[in-house]
Formats: sequence, C-alpha cells, structure tokens
Amino acid sequence: PRLANQIAAGEVVERPASVIKELLENSLDAGATRLDVDMEKGGIKRMKVRDNGKGIERDDLALALARHATSKIHALEDLDAVATLGFRGEALASISSVARLTLTSSRDECGQGWQVSAEGREMHAQLTPAAHPRGTTVDVRDLFFNTPARRKFLRTEKTEFNRVDETVKRLALSRFDVSISLRHNGKGVLSLRAGSNRVEMERRVAQICGPAFMQKALHIEVERSGLRLWGWVAEPAFSRSQADLQFFYVNGRAIRDKVVSHAVRRAFADVLHHGRHPAFVLYLELDPASVDVNVHPTKHEVRFRDSRLVHDFLFGSLHRALADARP
Ligand code: ADP
Ligand code: MG
Repeated sequence: PRLANQIAAGEVVERPASVIKELLENSLDAGATRLDVDMEKGGIKRMKVRDNGKGIERDDLALALARHATSKIHALEDLDAVATLGFRGEALASISSVARLTLTSSRDECGQGWQVSAEGREMHAQLTPAAHPRGTTVDVRDLFFNTPARRKFLRTEKTEFNRVDETVKRLALSRFDVSISLRHNGKGVLSLRAGSNRVEMERRVAQICGPAFMQKALHIEVERSGLRLWGWVAEPAFSRSQADLQFFYVNGRAIRDKVVSHAVRRAFADVLHHGRHPAFVLYLELDPASVDVNVHPTKHEVRFRDSRLVHDFLFGSLHRALADARP
C-alpha cells in the first residue's frame, strides 16, 4: 500500500503549494480558527501547519496516515481513477509517502497530545506522547527525498514559495473568520487577524492585494433573482502583476472559470475602454443546486446550470457599478 501511495502521490502531490492546500483544508475541516504556516526553503525543506482545530484522537492518529490506502489503489491500472479522485481520503497518506511526515495532535485542553511519523514507504506507527495544545500540527520535511524524478520538477525555492503564498492568500480571502500566519525561513510574511466586519475585511484585502488596490477599490454589492455578488474591484493602474489580483469565489470556494472571467473582462473593457487585466476580489453566491462544484476536486472548476444567466448577471452588475463610479 505504501508503494501504491507513492505512485498516487506522484500524480497529485505536485509541489509544496498542493501539500499546503490539502493541509489547510484538513485544518478547516477540523474547525480551526487559527492557522500557522511555517515554511523553509520554499517548503521543499520543510512545511509545518499548526491549527487549533478539534484534534485527532490518539487511536486515530496512525489511521489518519494510512487511511483508504489499500481500498482505492490496487494496481497501476487504477492510476487513471486515482488521478480523478485527487486527494480525497488520502492526502496525508500520499504526502507521507513522498516526504518525512510527523503528525502531532491533541484533543485536550491541558496540552497532552500524541505523535506519529512516517517516512517515505516506512511508516513508524509507534505512538509517542507529545506536548501540544488542542489542535494539530503536520510537519512535512524533505519533500520528494525518495522520488528524485519528482524533485526535478520543482522550481526554485522562491517560485515554490510564491505558489504557497498565493495558495494561502486565496484561502485567506475565503475565510475572514480565521486567523492566519505565514512564515518563510524564520521571517513573518503574512499575519492576518480574524474579523468579518467590513473594516476588518478591507484590512485583510489590503494586506493581501496591497494598499494600492484597496485605495482604488470600489466596493460592490448587488443582489438580483437569487444571485448575489459582492466584493471589491479596481482599475489596474498599478504595477503589480495582475494575475495575482484576481480572486473569484463561488459559494465560498475559489474558482477559475471561463464564463466568469469573460463577463468580468467584458464589463471592464466596456466601461474603461482598455483591455488591461482588471483586479478584483469577488464573491458570487447562488443556490447550491444551480452550480456543480465537483467537476474536478483538485482543480478550481465549476459548472453553472444556467451559465448565460450568471454571465449576464456578472456583466450587468459590474458594468453598472463601474459606470456609476466614473466621474
Ligand atoms: P480526508 O481529508 O479526505 O479525510 P486526509 O488524508 O486529508 O483525508 O486526512 C485523513 C483524516 O485525518 C481526516 O479525515 C481527519 O480525520 C484527519 N485529519 C487530518 N488532518 C487533520 C487536522 N488538521 N485536524 C483534525 N483531523 C485531521
Ligand atoms: Mg483532506
């Protein structure tokens, strides 16, 4: 089963950022309100995620690493199936098969916890007591130490870190109610306080998108026929790379979608008369029944039941807001 995991991990553990995404999602699943991410050398040397979630029971620790390991992958022929399943039920198992992973957790207010480790194909299922406040720490060292072919696909530390940074920021803009910190090589990179009122949200958006974005940003909030759009948009007249500044969420999930980007781009081009990439942080909320978010679990795709309606709503709302804001 460890070998099978290693093969599967080759398909799904691409780089530090994909590991971080899975770890953060696990922490949120556990109800965490505080996430601390600590990286070394772009995450390749080490990445540590600590949360204050509900923790893992002593007897479930080893299971968390081994979970579903045998039930999903039986042979190489199953790899196609694995690729489409993505990480579901096997993130920790996959990660630990291509790195040295230590899982420490406590469900206890007094700080009594337990720890288990795995290293590549070797699982050290032995539990050891460890002091840990209520919550979980996943410590991942030496990514791809046992799969040199995978390691070669990694870019520079700086590039890998930038992707992690982007992943953390994208998530941070979907959970204003969670405190998040990010450190790299011992230095604080991001420190976001929880808070969901307008002032607190705008402070976070400014921290993530930069003060220049927030200064120019237009706050919008539109609701019509069961669709709601809110967030911030700005004309991109500053130098930062614009790809960094496009955040779109559908019912709280970060997505990239052609219908959405087309509508947004058209609205901007129409009002501002230039084709530069707009900068935005936007949230679309609609009846969950009218959108399918499970097109692909590891990609950020959706399928709208009525994409024409969504397109026209986005275009119309943005167009009006931008036009009204023109002097
Ligand atoms: P999945 O999240 O799909 O169940 P994972 O391999 O990501 O699979 O995690 C395995 C299990 O380990 C989870 O179902 C959960 O029970 C437990 N777990 C992982 N991370 C955490 C965490 N940060 N806090 C609490 N439990 C966790
Ligand atoms: Mg998971």
